[in-house]
Amino acid sequence: MGSGQLARMFCLEAIPYGYEVQVYSPERNSPASAAGAKETVAEYEDENALNSFLRRINALTFEFENIPEIALSTIEKFSEKNGLPVHPSPNCIRIAQNRWKEKNTFVRAGIPTVNFYPVFEEKDKADVLSRTKYPCILKTNTMGYDGKGQIKCKNENELAQALSSLEKLDHIVEEFFPFSEEASVIFARFSDGEVSYFQPSKNVHTNHILDLTFHPGNFPEAVRKRLIEYARKLAETIDYVGVFGIEFFLKDGEILCNEFAPRPHNSGHFSQNAGTLTQFSLQLRTLCGLPVPKAEGLPTNKVVMKNILGEDYKPGSTLWNRALGNPHYHLHLYGKTEARNGRKMGHWNYNGPEPERAFSDWL
Ligand code: ADP
Ligand code: MG
Repeated sequence: MGSGQLARMFCLEAIPYGYEVQVYSPERNSPASAAGAKETVAEYEDENALNSFLRRINALTFEFENIPEIALSTIEKFSEKNGLPVHPSPNCIRIAQNRWKEKNTFVRAGIPTVNFYPVFEEKDKADVLSRTKYPCILKTNTMGYDGKGQIKCKNENELAQALSSLEKLDHIVEEFFPFSEEASVIFARFSDGEVSYFQPSKNVHTNHILDLTFHPGNFPEAVRKRLIEYARKLAETIDYVGVFGIEFFLKDGEILCNEFAPRPHNSGHFSQNAGTLTQFSLQLRTLCGLPVPKAEGLPTNKVVMKNILGEDYKPGSTLWNRALGNPHYHLHLYGKTEARNGRKMGHWNYNGPEPERAFSDWL
């Protein structure tokens, strides 16, 4: 489900293994189709088109969690009736696409998270205004990504104003956590319960969008272990099968979980040049019942990933040519023609001798 860059990079793994990939989304000439996927172009709400797509495939996975409920329940019913393997399960997608469910799942799993409050009805407004600590962030409950649908509020006045500007009340308020670092773990769980993961990475966001990932992140041993244990707890609590990326805020040894994505994650793209399996290969393996890698924690080399947003998309520039002339820089473009500001166009991976310096002078 979905045909953007994550589906494209899945194709680049699955096709050499001999699989045929079919993608379903409303977009024609998608990033995935340019990498060899057969496209079904239809709305997610189109039950007939979706059912006939499901009849043509042998296993289903997602590159994208913002799939309407009608599509999830169609998939669920089809899978129950016809035994189609669907990984992760529609229930895991329902949790990940809804911040309220997601954060309550963390609480249930014993994974620490920021304080959060519901804004679903008029009467919740007074409640949240009196309970939350400032600064805080008002976030859409569903359909948010790359910082979209978020309003940061410094005090009660600002929150009151932000709340009154909402057209629809499906939101949460989160207390702002003044983290010193952000981390993520890419974690895979197989249908027999076996797991495999990458060591935690350190992430740097700019304007709420991921800019850099340093892999592996240089964390104290106790922090490294807890990050992996939280990922494992989440996977077991919701009986997750497939790959997910889970994001954390860190400060002085304190760890709070921010969110998880029920699919390969932008912060896992380092794996394409880390000298081991990639996150897409793990997605393929968990989906198709291929053997489980022998090592739980996959051995990797050091990699730094830098995202290319629309405004950084500069083919032919001196900067790009210098990187392309260095054998440690690897370019991964997503096949998007229109380079809009803030749009993810591709990424660079650097796996050479001075990872800290790889992008330090890039603007
Ligand atoms: P999205 O779904 O758009 O990725 P996130 O909740 O991950 O939304 O927010 C994007 C980024 O914004 C985070 O990685 C972090 O840098 C910042 N951010 C979000 N929520 C908080 C918070 N409660 N405290 C501090 N920073 C936050
Ligand atoms: Mg995020």
